[in-house]
Amino acid sequence: MVSVRSIYNTPSSLTYHDLPWIITHREDRCTLCGQCTAVCPVGAIYLTYRRQRVPKLDVLKKQRGNEYRHFVGIRQQTDVSKRCIGCGMCSMVCPNEAIGPHPNTNENRSAFVRSQKGDAFKRGGRRNAPGKTILDRISFDRISMLTDPALDAGRHEFNYNTILGRILPPEEYLKRKASGEWIPPTREIFPFIIGSMSFGALSPNMWLGLLQGVAYCNEVLGIPVVMATGEGGCPPWILKSPFLKYIILQIASGYFGWDEIIRAIPEMQCDPAAIEIKYGQGAKPGDGGLLMWFKVSKLIARLRGVPEGVDLPSPPVHQTLYSIEESVMKMIQTMSMAFGFRVPVYPKISGSTSAKAVLNNLVRNPYAGGLLIDGIDGGTGAAYDVSMEATGHPIASNLRECYLDLVAQGRQNEIPLFAAGGIGKNGNVTQNGLAMIMLGASGVHIGKYIMQSAAGCLGNEMGRCNVCNVGICPKGITSQNEKLFRRLDPDDVAQRVVDTFMMIRTETKKIMAPLGRSQSLPIGMSDALGIDDADAAERLKINYIC
Ligand code: SF4
Ligand code: SF4
Repeated sequence: MVSVRSIYNTPSSLTYHDLPWIITHREDRCTLCGQCTAVCPVGAIYLTYRRQRVPKLDVLKKQRGNEYRHFVGIRQQTDVSKRCIGCGMCSMVCPNEAIGPHPNTNENRSAFVRSQKGDAFKRGGRRNAPGKTILDRISFDRISMLTDPALDAGRHEFNYNTILGRILPPEEYLKRKASGEWIPPTREIFPFIIGSMSFGALSPNMWLGLLQGVAYCNEVLGIPVVMATGEGGCPPWILKSPFLKYIILQIASGYFGWDEIIRAIPEMQCDPAAIEIKYGQGAKPGDGGLLMWFKVSKLIARLRGVPEGVDLPSPPVHQTLYSIEESVMKMIQTMSMAFGFRVPVYPKISGSTSAKAVLNNLVRNPYAGGLLIDGIDGGTGAAYDVSMEATGHPIASNLRECYLDLVAQGRQNEIPLFAAGGIGKNGNVTQNGLAMIMLGASGVHIGKYIMQSAAGCLGNEMGRCNVCNVGICPKGITSQNEKLFRRLDPDDVAQRVVDTFMMIRTETKKIMAPLGRSQSLPIGMSDALGIDDADAAERLKINYIC
C-alpha cells in the first residue's frame, strides 16, 4: 500500500501528515479509471504523471547510473483549501478498492487548517463528542411481568401518538365548549418529528424526498409524521398544496421566506401543522442562522427575497423583542391571529439554564401551544465550531427540570414540551426518543438521524465530511448545485423515510409493551427509567441501577 503525497514540498509547506485525512492509494490495483477524482467534492485528489529517477549502481563494473520509472496514479493535494474531508466517496466509486481515506491521529497538526486568514473555523454537522450520551445509557427497567399485564407488541393495538398544542384542563374545556368560546388548536401527531432543516440548507431533491415520505406515512400507513421547515420558508407549490398540513412552518429572526408565506395564505387549501418561532437552536445558542453564499442559488434567492450569491446571516435575536413576555404578546399572538387562531404556535429555544423562565411565561399564556428545547448536541447546516462544541446545555437535564417544574405546578398535561439535540446521535433513535418522552417530553425532533437514515449522510462526530455549509455535499443532501443534488433520488429518500418511521413505530411498541402501556404514550413515566450513573440518576430523578 502506497501513501501518496506531493513531491513539491519545501521545509515550510504542508504534507499529508498535517491534514485531518490521509488518502491511501494502491498503485497495484488502480486501473486509472478516474472515477475517484471525478467524484471528489473538494478536488482533494488528482491524476498525475511523474517520471522518477531510480539511482543504480553496478558494483561489478564499478559504474554509477540511473534508471527511470513512470508513475501514473493518484496523489493527494496538500493545499489546505483542497484538503480531504474523509467523505469516502472515492472509495465508494472505485471499482478496484484501490483508494480510501484514513483519519489522521496527529490531531495537533490540524491547527494548521483551522484559522486561515484569521477566520474562525465554521462547519456543518454535529458536535464532535463521540461516545455514549446520557440518553444512550438510560434503560427501561420497570417491566410488567407478574405484577400487571405486559402486552404483545405484535398483536395489541397501541396509541403512540402525541398532542401538539395547548391542552385545556377537562373542566375548562367543557366550559368553553358549552359557551362556544375559543379552544386552543391541537394536532395529533407522531412523537418523532422531522426537525427544522431549511429549504436552502437542504437540496430540492432532499426536501422533495422528505415530503414524499412524510405524505406516504400519513396517507398510506396512518403514521401522522410532521416535518418542520427551518428558516427560509418552503417551495411556493407546497404552500398551496394539501401537503401543507404535514408541515410546521418556522419563522426565525431573519424572517426569510415569510413574504411568500403571507402572500400564499389566501390560497392555502389547509392550515399548516403548526408555526414554530425560532429564538435559538442547540448547535449555536445565542447566534442566528447562517446560509453561506455558496448555497444561495437563484431559486433560494427568489424564495427568500434576496440577491443571488450573498451570505444570509439572521440576527441572533428578533430585533424588536427583548423579553419572553414581549415575545408572547407580539409574536405568538400575531402568528396565531395570522392563521385565524386555528394553528398551534410554539417557540423553539436553545437548551439553557434560562429555559425554565421561558416556560413559566408560556404557561401563563393561553396562545402558547408548546415549547421546543434544542440541546447542545443539536446539529446545524453551518455554525462556528466553538459555538457547536462549547455553547449550550444538554437536553436531558434541561427538559427534565422544565417538566418537573410543570409537575410542581400541577400543569404537566397542559403545555407540551418537545426535545431536540442529539436524539439518535449514536443510532439509538427510538431508545433516545422514548427516554426523553419518559423524562417528560411530549415528542422529539430528529434531524441528522433522518439525514443519515434517509439519505446516507456521511458526516460523523469524528470530523468526517461535515461540509454541509459550503454547498459541496457529496451526497447531494445539502447542496444547491444541480450537478451534486441530482445524485440524490427523491424516490429513494422517500422510501427510506418510510422505512425509518416504520422501524421507529415498531421499536416504540417494543418499548411500550413490556411496560404494560398501550393506550397512551408514557410521557413522564420516569419510574420506569434507570441509569448506571448515580449523579445522573440524582439529577434526572430516576432509578440508579448498577
Ligand atoms: S475521501 Fe472524499 S474528499 Fe477525500 S479524496 Fe476521497 S472523495 Fe475526496
Ligand atoms: S454528506 Fe452532506 S449532509 Fe452529510 S455531513 Fe457531508 S455535507 Fe453534510
